[in-house]
Amino acid sequence: MLDLLITNATLPDGRTGMSVAVQDGRIAEVTPGLAAPAHETLDAQGLLLAPHFVDPHFHMDATLSYGQPRVNQSGTLLEGIALWGELKPLLTADALIERALAYCDWAVAKGLLAIRSHVDTSDPSLLAVDALLEVKRQVAPYIDLQLVAFPQDGVLRSPGGVDNLTRALDKGVDVVGGIPHFERTMADGAASVKLLCELAAERGKLVDMHCDESDDPLSRHIETLAAETLRLGLQGRVTGSHCTSMHSMDNYYVSKLLPLIAESGVSVVSNPLINITLQGRHDSYPKRRGMTRVPELLAAGVNVAFGHDCVMDPWYGMGSGDMLEVAHMGLHVAQMTGQAGIHQCFEAVTTRAARVMHLDGYGLEAGCDASFVLLQARDPVEAIRLRATRLKVFRKGRLLAETPAATAALHLPGRGDRTRWMLGEH
Ligand SMILES: [Zn+2]
Repeated sequence: MLDLLITNATLPDGRTGMSVAVQDGRIAEVTPGLAAPAHETLDAQGLLLAPHFVDPHFHMDATLSYGQPRVNQSGTLLEGIALWGELKPLLTADALIERALAYCDWAVAKGLLAIRSHVDTSDPSLLAVDALLEVKRQVAPYIDLQLVAFPQDGVLRSPGGVDNLTRALDKGVDVVGGIPHFERTMADGAASVKLLCELAAERGKLVDMHCDESDDPLSRHIETLAAETLRLGLQGRVTGSHCTSMHSMDNYYVSKLLPLIAESGVSVVSNPLINITLQGRHDSYPKRRGMTRVPELLAAGVNVAFGHDCVMDPWYGMGSGDMLEVAHMGLHVAQMTGQAGIHQCFEAVTTRAARVMHLDGYGLEAGCDASFVLLQARDPVEAIRLRATRLKVFRKGRLLAETPAATAALHLPGRGDRTRWMLGEH
């Protein structure tokens, strides 16, 4: 007797009429038209069943702090960092935990069950580190929360930066972070990349650095990150986040850079909502988009994923934990409006993001965790177009969240009353 049998599901790869059998929290079988006894059955009615959403780049220590102590007036990255500096002395562990847990509730409702969050290690008290380790413990039954030791003020630029970051790793933070473009000089930035990659190699940790989050075409720390990855044998274990300077780089240089990134197995995480908002702020017109070269990276064989980065914090006053909104913005900014491009944007917030995080048991195949989302959409294209309602969210076979289908009751003169199920049917 199965624990759960889902029938008549459409999968992201286009297969329809599929049954997904669940036993002991795992997918036992994925096959068309299976009829088997189960404690619980769910008719998906031809709708899309997708593996849960994954956010490979977030800042949970800052989330839901919008307006504290004031709002970012210029809308720039640098004012955001300064504002975060004003907020930090006022932070308490309790308030930080409460905000983070509230965000995790939103995330689960949106089918977002794995999050890689950076945590600022610049404050020697490591208050935010302790708070997010506590959040990680509390949400473990329903969210995979992976933490990155992130030296927001620069690991070399801020006093005690290396020591603080190392102590955060000792406390159990999973990934080594960095911010080379915020160090004092290009040389210091390169030195920080080298030092942090060596630290990760010594400790067997993954690496995820904020890399070249700038419009400066000469900010080339991604090159050093890729070269250090190769030198230290860290292929497949390293991520460069943002990489917005690549938007402004010389095309000849990029033609040499892309194969290097591919060779090094470095993943790139772009954050479309934030990159389109924070970059290009010093331009008049034309204004640069400030997002990295997503289609070109994908064509070169690089794993590219999309992150949310911020929700209602010193850098960004919008957002709701909806990775379909992130994919929607990504496909617009990168002009990935062809069918293949839209599917790649869906992968950027699901399978490709899971690869960045090295998630075990992720996917919709026999043997994977039964962690998936039933969407009010018939395929990934419609899911992104509608930012589709998450009808049901399961983790390891357990129902975590339900949202009623979006419908509109219409009262139209001359056409009578009718209900539209918001699938875009004609
Ligand atoms: Zn970030």
